Amino acid sequence: MLPKPSKGLVISLIIVLSIFTAMVATGGSFSASLESDADIYSASKDQPSYEASQPIKEESLSEFYERTVRSFDTNQGSADVLPVLMYHHLLPAADNIYPEEPAVLNLEIFEQQMAYLEDQGFTTLTLKEAELFLRGELEIPRNSILITFDDGYASEAVYAADVLRRYDLKAASFLITSQIEDETEDFHPHELSYLSWEQIQENRDVFEYAHHSHDMHHLEENKSLLVVCCEDTLREDLRASLSLLESPYFAYPYGHKDCDVIQTLKDKDYRMAFSTREEMARPGEDLFRVGRFGITYHVSFERFQSIVHGYQ
Ligand SMILES: [Zn+2]
Repeated sequence: MLPKPSKGLVISLIIVLSIFTAMVATGGSFSASLESDADIYSASKDQPSYEASQPIKEESLSEFYERTVRSFDTNQGSADVLPVLMYHHLLPAADNIYPEEPAVLNLEIFEQQMAYLEDQGFTTLTLKEAELFLRGELEIPRNSILITFDDGYASEAVYAADVLRRYDLKAASFLITSQIEDETEDFHPHELSYLSWEQIQENRDVFEYAHHSHDMHHLEENKSLLVVCCEDTLREDLRASLSLLESPYFAYPYGHKDCDVIQTLKDKDYRMAFSTREEMARPGEDLFRVGRFGITYHVSFERFQSIVHGYQ
């Protein structure tokens, strides 16, 4: 018999469910469902080094991004499009008491998918590399991909990081910075918990971190606070995020955005932002409307293969 979920979990999952309901309503269909002046360096197996002994906010942004761009060997062919994958929360099947919750993917499925990417020789891009590709300023190999996680759940550190390490893959994590814990708490699979700053530092060899708002991951009448609130509130929220974590990259909570939100991001020197619209990212497109594919239990392995090989 499945254990009785805690009240906290029920509330959390209601919130998560509302997120996905909103995504479906706004084009993030789960039902069937980011200037190139950076120094380029060459790397052997083409995996960038994220390891940083310094706290995130003590590292210069320009230093970090200059060392996360590689020059690629594209003799075997270069990519025309970039599939961007979006994950949220992972749980082992035996612990997943909500197998039909789109925000929760069985760990075993995630591992099968990552094993496939490694077996097929996929290159996982950094956010900076993705940005340069989309600006038409960097050639990337065929079989390139960008893996993203939203919300900053603790399962990234508990489960995802080890899988990524095992298959020599990298990912980007968009954090709701107000939710990040000061101390690492015990992980309970039946409760939804968030990363701690300590866990974020520990996993910078496989994860790079960016913004998903500081405290605006809420809905008002099925619209993201981002598009409902006034500009000053959004500016203050972005200031709070940037004081904790330097990154010029953003993922819209619930995928919601409008021209005012995009202009405010640009005013704050953001360089690229991701939506939840399920479409391939292509050079020349709007860097503030980059599409992503939500990888949920709805996505068959055949569909996953199709997405990662660029067949929308
Ligand atoms: Zn989110």
